[in-house]
Amino acid sequence: MEKIVSLCKRRGFVFPASEIYGGIAGFWDYGPMGVELVNNLKSLWWRRIVQEQDNIYGIDGAIIQNPKLWEASGHIAGFTDPLVDCKNCGARHRADHLAGTDSSDISELTELLREKACPTCGKKELTAPRKYNMMMKTWVGPVEDNSSVAYLRPETAGPIFTNFKNVVDSMHPKLPFGIAQTGKAFRNEIAPRDFIFRVRELEQMEMQYFIAPSIQNESYEAWRQFSWDFLVNDLGLQERNLKWHEHEENERAHYAAAAHDVYFNYPQGFKELWGTHDRTDFDLKGHMEASGVDLTYRDEETKESFIPYVIESSVGVGRMLLAVLTDAYREDELGGETRTYLALSPKIAPVKAMVSPLLKNKPELVEKAKEVRNELRKVHPAIAWDDNGNIGKRYRRQDEIGTPFCITIDFDTLEDGTVTLRHRDSGEQERLSVEEVSERLRRALA
Ligand code: ATP
Repeated sequence: MEKIVSLCKRRGFVFPASEIYGGIAGFWDYGPMGVELVNNLKSLWWRRIVQEQDNIYGIDGAIIQNPKLWEASGHIAGFTDPLVDCKNCGARHRADHLAGTDSSDISELTELLREKACPTCGKKELTAPRKYNMMMKTWVGPVEDNSSVAYLRPETAGPIFTNFKNVVDSMHPKLPFGIAQTGKAFRNEIAPRDFIFRVRELEQMEMQYFIAPSIQNESYEAWRQFSWDFLVNDLGLQERNLKWHEHEENERAHYAAAAHDVYFNYPQGFKELWGTHDRTDFDLKGHMEASGVDLTYRDEETKESFIPYVIESSVGVGRMLLAVLTDAYREDELGGETRTYLALSPKIAPVKAMVSPLLKNKPELVEKAKEVRNELRKVHPAIAWDDNGNIGKRYRRQDEIGTPFCITIDFDTLEDGTVTLRHRDSGEQERLSVEEVSERLRRALA
């Protein structure tokens, strides 16, 4: 983990939020490379789940909603994690993490923690576990009293359910259909940790698929498969770094009838990356009761009205980024020196290729290199320029941000139009025409 954190800092992927003031636990900023990589992950997900589907609609809901939404969804009462305090040193811990279990059952945790010492001070003075609500509170308007309390959304799903009727009335979809969105969510985590794995401001990519109850199982299986396929085929993650985790009853969220997570092999071990949940009619039913608005769906063929079931696919952008970085991180020896590189799939790499003139003080080389860069930008805009330091150093910098190709323009280029194409993973170089390089790039990004 330390190596990944340090690479992220060194190469502009992730910085601690408000670092010059000492940072703030659970909040991180994405730097120039991080934001590119994250945007690539999000747009690939959006493409697969919204643009390439005929029956999935995107929305972008507000972060702050009427608090009644979170009452009806059960979050105000039930969005809790179990917590213990140390009476000696005041440290707070996640009771389930301390007990080494996935269970959130308070009596089970009490039993498991009976003889446990505080990991901070070593004293056996922990309080009994209790439930702690993770909703982040704020106030809307100039008066800070109970009537103006609002919450930052703890998941993006909320506004999807409250827009169910709007999407039905505006787009007239037939069941099954989905609503998807990406966006920030906030959780007052007791112990943010493991870099960007467990944070208090997170970004989610969620899709709720509304179905007739009769296809509950097949739809659940299909969306489970979708998550696995996306990670392996689109992001290029190694299957040995993935495994399934099925939630036991005592682990499931308050809304879920069944839940399967894809676990990824993070530096701290196999942990949840992407969840598929069978939410039955919990959400629409709850919102229908609380709002008094009819959220049933009428099947025009059978003339039946019913509350659709929901299969949810939910993944954190930060956890996906950390998985991608962990999976791609490599160290090897090249030309007698150790090097670090990110074996990122070209489709998600923040920079697709770097173009560089062999010498920066030779105007004819610089001019030709700019011409080549402009040519490659017709294939993809993310083509970097680097003329700093020697060529070896330029390659190493690109290796560390996962740039799949480096193109060097030298005096031979002026003679015969060929350039050097260097491949990131093998370090191998070949001589090709600019058209051939364009074609390689196009193929790698397809
Ligand atoms: P965990 O058990 O790890 O706290 P969760 O089961 O509460 O996660 P969900 O409510 O299912 O998570 O949220 C869906 C997805 O959002 C998760 O699979 C994860 O990728 C992401 N996520 C949830 N909480 C966080 C967090 N605090 N920091 C970063 N990502 C998160």
